[in-house]
Amino acid sequence: MEYYDQAETWDRQTIERTQLVRLRNTLTQALRSPFYRDRFERAGLAPQDMRSLADLEKIPFTSKEDLRAAYPYGLVTVPMEELVRFHASSGTTGAPVVVCHTQDDLDSWADLMARCMYMVGIRRSDVFQNIAGYGLFTGGLGIHSGAERLGCLTIPAGTGNTRRQLKLLRDMRVSALHIIPSYALYLGNALLEEGEDPRSLPPRIALVGAEPHTEEARRRIEDLLDLKAYNSYGLSEMNGPGVAFECLEQNGLHVWEDAYIAEIVDPKTGEAVPEGEPGELVMTTLCRRGMPVIRFRTRDLTRFLPGDCPCGRKHRRLDRIAGRVDDMLIVKGCNIYPMQVEQILMSFREVGENYLIILENEENMDRMRVQVEVRSEFFVEDMRALTSLQRKIAGRLRDEILITPKVDLVQQNSLPRIEGGKARRVEDRRFAKL
Ligand code: AMP
Ligand code: ZN
Repeated sequence: MEYYDQAETWDRQTIERTQLVRLRNTLTQALRSPFYRDRFERAGLAPQDMRSLADLEKIPFTSKEDLRAAYPYGLVTVPMEELVRFHASSGTTGAPVVVCHTQDDLDSWADLMARCMYMVGIRRSDVFQNIAGYGLFTGGLGIHSGAERLGCLTIPAGTGNTRRQLKLLRDMRVSALHIIPSYALYLGNALLEEGEDPRSLPPRIALVGAEPHTEEARRRIEDLLDLKAYNSYGLSEMNGPGVAFECLEQNGLHVWEDAYIAEIVDPKTGEAVPEGEPGELVMTTLCRRGMPVIRFRTRDLTRFLPGDCPCGRKHRRLDRIAGRVDDMLIVKGCNIYPMQVEQILMSFREVGENYLIILENEENMDRMRVQVEVRSEFFVEDMRALTSLQRKIAGRLRDEILITPKVDLVQQNSLPRIEGGKARRVEDRRFAKL
């Protein structure tokens, strides 16, 4: 097995010993920010109280609201002259969450990202196209820096302009790319619609992430584009991409425990769940100086996969993200996650890649409507075939989510899309004011 760096090969003991040392250093550093100074004083805690990793539980959580309230510099722990970059998370409401980095922070982030890419077989001889927004979104510069650190010829393609993306992929003989899953599916289908073969595109490796997607969607991307797609997880509060990443096994994402502490808690009580049980991921930075964040409630739902990974790495694996705590829809008293719907839809070969869940309120009753794109070759004029498909989809959805939604079949590429950006899967019209 080839490794990018030493920490990747650490055994559990080395990982945990290092985590404790780094945790104490991180807490000492965090005390330099007004936010954590106040927090720790109130909780009566000091870094030396961390005698073992289990003591981490004594520290209060940091929420997204805390970060918003501290906007813009309340969590910064270094003088302004040391800060060199900031990013912001993609939240659409309220004050943004900003994260400030020193040069050292950016360097260690780039190394983590390069490690992820190396792990899935990307080398300096590769040509890498980054199809992601180059703005405050961390998928742009974050992935870019990792690719450059690894030594790839890196193309900052940005988002949108599908024609130009395809031209670059072909002309530059791109061998690896980063792309948001919903856009990967769109790109491949756009080519198919024009009678071209997306499998003839040169890339052999794709990094896909930044938004929830199912195993079924990944397999579709792999088939459509004839490449291997690896799940890439991260969030701005923890730098961005490079937090957890799939290895060649494609079975869970190794969370880089030399750089983070990951916990999984019950989203309601905040208590740790038994190992292997699903819950909300809570993350602590261990290698960030400019703005450490401790016990951050990510709102992302996952679990630790049991057992060792055949690849040999001892950094624990997270299961594919099942959704966000705030994604949970309550319709007619049933709890539903959009990924449950995606999983069913993607299992129908007639169904295309784009769908939209619409929640409405009619006469004080919740109603769920699912608009589903049907592949062109199946969107026939035979009404009977379409009605039967509609019924089958509604039935399978009912078995999974326990309510029967209304299913609208629509033509391929007719639903709204955010080109290259994170897809919006749910439109809740129930509480809209007239
Ligand atoms: P942001 O920091 O605004 O770019 O958004 C980070 C959020 O995107 C995470 O908290 C997750 O909810 C989501 N996300 C990122 N990567 C993945 C992934 N591989 N699978 C599912 N969700 C993801
Ligand atoms: Zn592995």
